[in-house]
Amino acid sequence: MIDKETLQDFDRKYVWHPFTQMKEWEADSQIVITRGEGSWLIDCDGNRYLDGVGSVWTNVHGHCHPFINAAIKSQVDRLEHSTLLGLASEKSALLAKRLIDIVPKGLTKVFYSDNGSTAVEIGIKMAFQYWLQTGRPEKSRFISFKNAYHGDTIGAVSVGGIDIFHEVFRPLLFPTIQAPSTYCYRCELSPECNSGRCEMECLAQLERLMELHCHETAALVIEPLVQGAGGMIVQPEGFVRRVRELCDRFDILMIADEVAVGFGRTGSMFACERESVTPDIMALSKGITAGYLPLAATLTTQKIYDAFLGEYAELKTFFHGHTFTGNPIACASALASLELFERDDLLNCLKPKIKQLQTRLESLREHPHVGDIRQLGMIAGIELVKNRESREPFDWTERIGVAVCREAQKHGLFLRPLGNVIVIFPPLSISSDEIDYLMDGVEKSIISITGEAV
Ligand SMILES: *Cc1c(COP(=O)(O)O)cnc(C)c1O
Repeated sequence: MIDKETLQDFDRKYVWHPFTQMKEWEADSQIVITRGEGSWLIDCDGNRYLDGVGSVWTNVHGHCHPFINAAIKSQVDRLEHSTLLGLASEKSALLAKRLIDIVPKGLTKVFYSDNGSTAVEIGIKMAFQYWLQTGRPEKSRFISFKNAYHGDTIGAVSVGGIDIFHEVFRPLLFPTIQAPSTYCYRCELSPECNSGRCEMECLAQLERLMELHCHETAALVIEPLVQGAGGMIVQPEGFVRRVRELCDRFDILMIADEVAVGFGRTGSMFACERESVTPDIMALSKGITAGYLPLAATLTTQKIYDAFLGEYAELKTFFHGHTFTGNPIACASALASLELFERDDLLNCLKPKIKQLQTRLESLREHPHVGDIRQLGMIAGIELVKNRESREPFDWTERIGVAVCREAQKHGLFLRPLGNVIVIFPPLSISSDEIDYLMDGVEKSIISITGEAV
């Protein structure tokens, strides 16, 4: 095997890492991962790190799961790739049928792509063209949310709302109508909300925006239940259902981006399900292949699909597609993952784990630098603050989240923060002992960095 120093050297010299200040990266000594096993990542020295963020919100059944590995190996020996341009294929057809069986009722069609950003972009383009072809071309704008994250391509960034990532690209983006975030802990709309009596003033504002702009609005784009990259911001119960009602009332399509929250993370297969909502368009990726391979799907209703039917010369075709659309190996891993959900009765087995995670998070609540703890299912965010009383945040330049996650490596954990928010997003297969190990490490790391005991 090639030695660690060589690998580190090649990485430093040749790899440009995502969302990374490379000057800092190059100056440091980096962990090189060579293997995975269940909830663990293993580096080239054999050190083990519990994957506390499921390799950035993708891993579902653990690393190197024998069942998914076998499905992939068998697919590779059958067919590695064939195009969906002009050909149907076995695994993409089987997976589309499986997805339609389990997503909220009313979604009937699956459009494949290969990452979360494209899944959202496809939804945006579908919604835009839908109105064009149903006689309402003036409905061409989008409602997005403050603190939203939908990916990094230009269209996905346009409907994003995280200034620190998105502002530099502003001149390249299309403008949207921005609704307020459901960030209750730092609610700017109502002091009542800050003190825990949320009356969803943000929803009232959204309603006013819709009233004003519905005639020119194609769709609203939302991360249902949890705004992920914005800091694991959990929406109040009933919010998504009422957003759906507003969309119906104002004739605005609802695009639900379940790229992060789909496939069991919230405790249900899909987040929309928890609010009995069927979106008009739903974007899936990350967990779809259990974290194995890049695959995404944009699902929609018969009504939208039908608006694209016509004679070729009418040019109603959806002219969009990516080279690896519906890749058979990726689809095979997704099918195997869905089989495991059933075989292992995974969603039911999650219930005690969610409870355990909740109990462990609760015990952090009194820590002097823990401002807010937000949890939904197996997703959690711990927001660290300089001052608990005033909720004064740590200055972003202090990079307290980065410091805590770096410290966590000493406790055998891999974590990746979102600003001052420590993210917990483990594989759903994580064991009870591993949850304790994870939360012990998180607690110790917060204490040693902020210098105060719980
Ligand atoms: C990660 C993410 C995306 C983007 O997915 P990529 O595969 O990184 O392009 C989009 N939406 C949400 C909610 C995400 O969490």
